[in-house]
Amino acid sequence: MSTFPDRPVAVLCSGGDSPGMNAFLRAVTRLGLNRHQIPVLGIRDGYQGLVRAARQVNGHPAELAKLKARIVANTGAKGLIELDQDIILMDHACVSGIVGRGGTLLGSARCLEFHKPEVRRSVIDLLTSLGVHALVVVGGDGSLTGARLLADESDLRVIGVPATIDNDLQFTELALGVDTAVHTLVWAVDHFIDTARSHRRVMVLETMGRDCGDLARMAAVASGAEMVITPEGGAVTHERLIEYAAKIETSMTRGRRHAIVLVAEGVKFSHDTTPDRSRAYVLRDAFESYFRRAGAPYPDLEVRPSVLGHLQRGGHATPQDCILASRFAENAWESLLSPEPQNGITALQHNRVVVVPFGAEDMPDRARFSRKMDELHEDLSSW
Ligand code: ADP
Repeated sequence: MSTFPDRPVAVLCSGGDSPGMNAFLRAVTRLGLNRHQIPVLGIRDGYQGLVRAARQVNGHPAELAKLKARIVANTGAKGLIELDQDIILMDHACVSGIVGRGGTLLGSARCLEFHKPEVRRSVIDLLTSLGVHALVVVGGDGSLTGARLLADESDLRVIGVPATIDNDLQFTELALGVDTAVHTLVWAVDHFIDTARSHRRVMVLETMGRDCGDLARMAAVASGAEMVITPEGGAVTHERLIEYAAKIETSMTRGRRHAIVLVAEGVKFSHDTTPDRSRAYVLRDAFESYFRRAGAPYPDLEVRPSVLGHLQRGGHATPQDCILASRFAENAWESLLSPEPQNGITALQHNRVVVVPFGAEDMPDRARFSRKMDELHEDLSSW
């Protein structure tokens, strides 16, 4: 039987999934095997998989030996698919054909227990006893916070990789999955436009993005959506809602036959008594009540809200996301193998891939970019 690999690197995907995670898993595995001759252990279901494995071993040498034996006996697809193992020794074949596939081969999960220091300690002990010297964590804000804690609390080298369609990580111009999600939104807007135009309708589409409006504003510029409302402008007042509605109505009097409004899920309303209500529905009610006022030119103008939801997380990753994932993997390896240990997060800054320390400051360019995009959209879409 083969022996357990020496000093492997482990990789996991955590939190909300995003397109590009599979491209990253392929790249990190293949670069490990082909360029660096270092084996990669894939961890199933993010931190949850590590916690499960740590609990199984529970510090017993016999259980550890069994786990190691299982990992080397069932590599690649066998451990991953047939046996549903929590830790899999990745091979060339198991990452074949996945480069653009949405989701993540390893699965992703949320793991509330990971907030407890003693649970993280058990995971660190497990990784140490497996000889793992480095861990790569692919995920969003929360997952990267977990990665930072692991780095602080152990001698492991830890690299985070930003992956979230929300693009709410301000130290990188783009996270994995954003480009694909924008692409999906453009596709969705194209479909809504056809019906909106046929019926002279206003479609209000709610996008993801948490407290960041980038996804909505990028999709608005790329799709030609008539209006975009994002959280960065502060809570939307009643007066502002009237202005939005009046703007749509005026454009109709100038010959426009439809309007697509993108509203980011993080938008807040200053008069909101039901903050959990979908933003698209709040806008629908406000717009329709304005359009139905006495003497209005289009009292029958219909507003149809849609919450696009998890549709935005799926689908084939765009070439841009697959390339970015491969570049992030290349930099993650370089950082892990550099003579001076550097824990941190891969980031795209000024179109270059770099590794920034955990807790790095926000890029000032990001806020500037958002403002410029808003101005650009305004001037492209006004009638
Ligand atoms: P995302 O990474 O997509 O932002 P979450 O915020 O849900 O998703 O975080 C994913 C997981 O990362 C959590 O379920 C938890 O396991 C871990 N995590 C998040 N925040 C922390 C924290 N403060 N301390 C330790 N682990 C955390």
